[in-house]
Amino acid sequence: MSKKLSLTLAASVLALGSLTAGAPAIAAGDYHDVAKEKAPKTVKGNGQSYKERIQEWKENGKPGKLKEVELQILGTSDLHTNFVNYDYYRDAKSNSLSLAKTGVLIEDAREKNDNTLLFDNGDLIQGTPFGGYKVSVDPLGKDELHPAFAALESLDFDATTLGNHEFNFGLDYLDNALEEAPFPVLNANVYDAKTGKNRFTPYTIMDKEVTDRKGKKHTIQVGVIGVVAPGIMEWDRANLEGKVIAKDAVETVEKFIPQVEKAGADVVVVLSHSGMGDEVHTVGEENVTYQLTEVDGVDAIITGHNHDVFPGSYSELANVDQENGTINGTPVVMPGKFGSHLGVIDLTLEPRGKTWRITNGEAELRAIDSTTDEVAEQVIEAVKETHEGTVEYIRSPVGETTAPINSYFSLVQDDPSVQIVNNAQLWYAEQQLAGTPNADLPLLSAAAPFKAGGRNGGDYYTNIETGEIAIKNVADLYVYDNTVFVLKLTGADLKEWLEMSAGQFKQIDPNATGEQTFINDNYRTYNFDVIDGVTYDIDITEPAKYDGEGAIVNEGAERIENLQYEGAAIDPNQEFLVVTNNYRASGNFPGVRNATETIDFAYENRQAIQDYIVEEGTIDPSADGNWQFAPVEGDPNLVFETSNAAKSLVEQESAIQYIEVTQNGFAKYGYTIQ
Ligand code: MN
Ligand code: MG
Repeated sequence: MSKKLSLTLAASVLALGSLTAGAPAIAAGDYHDVAKEKAPKTVKGNGQSYKERIQEWKENGKPGKLKEVELQILGTSDLHTNFVNYDYYRDAKSNSLSLAKTGVLIEDAREKNDNTLLFDNGDLIQGTPFGGYKVSVDPLGKDELHPAFAALESLDFDATTLGNHEFNFGLDYLDNALEEAPFPVLNANVYDAKTGKNRFTPYTIMDKEVTDRKGKKHTIQVGVIGVVAPGIMEWDRANLEGKVIAKDAVETVEKFIPQVEKAGADVVVVLSHSGMGDEVHTVGEENVTYQLTEVDGVDAIITGHNHDVFPGSYSELANVDQENGTINGTPVVMPGKFGSHLGVIDLTLEPRGKTWRITNGEAELRAIDSTTDEVAEQVIEAVKETHEGTVEYIRSPVGETTAPINSYFSLVQDDPSVQIVNNAQLWYAEQQLAGTPNADLPLLSAAAPFKAGGRNGGDYYTNIETGEIAIKNVADLYVYDNTVFVLKLTGADLKEWLEMSAGQFKQIDPNATGEQTFINDNYRTYNFDVIDGVTYDIDITEPAKYDGEGAIVNEGAERIENLQYEGAAIDPNQEFLVVTNNYRASGNFPGVRNATETIDFAYENRQAIQDYIVEEGTIDPSADGNWQFAPVEGDPNLVFETSNAAKSLVEQESAIQYIEVTQNGFAKYGYTIQ
């Protein structure tokens, strides 16, 4: 279990093992196909073809010492209540997510290897309307098994850990769910604020019965430790403050390793609900999985939180081996999100006296097959009641809208589909910021048209009628899995942010007589941020200041005019808070990149919108008209394209005239700057 030993041995096994192709990225199925296509060549002696032998090695492990044991650790992470292959926001089947799909891969792995363990890495009970349904519609009973645990139990999971989102519904709810958990649910770095003792079960030791290559049975003791990003203290401050404290995840693992080893662990697995991070460790930081790969005694890591993939991403970090799925020699998996991938860690163990030595460790990801309907039926069965209740719930009206919400004209005027996102973001952030040092700063909100035609065609627009509004409409309003961020920046930064957004438009000549298109089709509409809470005009007779990458192309250009806060010209030095999403916050937008503070709420924008609709009951999404085009002197003949379906709406729009149907569901419209 010494890090150095396993590193050296891993290297030598790699050299020996090159014949097996060792390529974790190639699924066993590929070998089957090759074997079928070509007639096997007979190899001297044993009558077995070379390809057949490779096939056998692939299935049964490469030939090694007969006393060796191939222990396989399977892992999922960030399921976020996606158990059934169903997208609750779209109210439609989806084969690109769910544990029911991952379950197919789990069963497949177990057929090929008897020595498997299966862990989940947290963010389990929250994330879709399924999770909310068990909180507010059909609340979890005192002695009821949470359907999330029922789903995992149906596939015989061995243990899980707590993700940050497990704390979203409060400690009482979590405690109630944990009471019936059918397997250990671990966390080592959250402590009771009063007693200073571990609030949850920090680790477990599992006696895993395994079979060696000879078919002889042994028991291997597998220690499992769970940790969560200490950011829970900020993200769920209201639920956790004064009740628990969260300590640094690396220091916690370092503290527990000797205890776990003393308790007899032959192998130590860390379930790290912390993201990958980088080579530098700051105590208490959110993402520290990279550091955990360097902790002596850690033999395998299942990580997540970033909703990313490893092997796959993170090549920029030092000592990353994508082929073998190791970082600093330690096998690591980050299995995507929502059940998209199964993490597979293969450890080769060799008996040494009464204990076991790891002679090789590799990791790979297996993606679910989104092209078939094949699922592990037991998962569907385990959550049937909650799933059906949730579908009924998302279809039922949860509120009303007093105006239609559509995005047909979102690129030419302030628009209800953007307004409602900004309203919901403001509503959410205001509550979250209350009582913090930032509570008194002016709060603004940025959102952009997501469904605005373009390459997705003339039907790709939001269109919700006046009247009843259902949970599933939320997906129409917010199609991305973004999370809420708040940025602190100045009035000057705000202006540059808007100058960048104004790249959505082409420069027009106000005195030209011919038809002029003014929407820049090369600019992505999701980058056309409308910032609510301030008012401004966009002068499209000016050239754009920035190109699509945020580089200055016209130094002196100024499209943003009359930028005002509370009716007065904005003070370039005044500090503002702007609610936005992780995509914008981590991007390179002018202005945004000068932010002096970045607050991560680890909460989906879509969830915030859903909460807002439920809370408000009746929403008025009418746009407040906080931006408009600056008046022009001439009478230019401006045209743009939007859905042909918007034809019936132009009567109410004095600035817009229908011209003619074009192609792909679009039509041409005229626009008069007023
Ligand atoms: Mn997550
Ligand atoms: Mg507005």
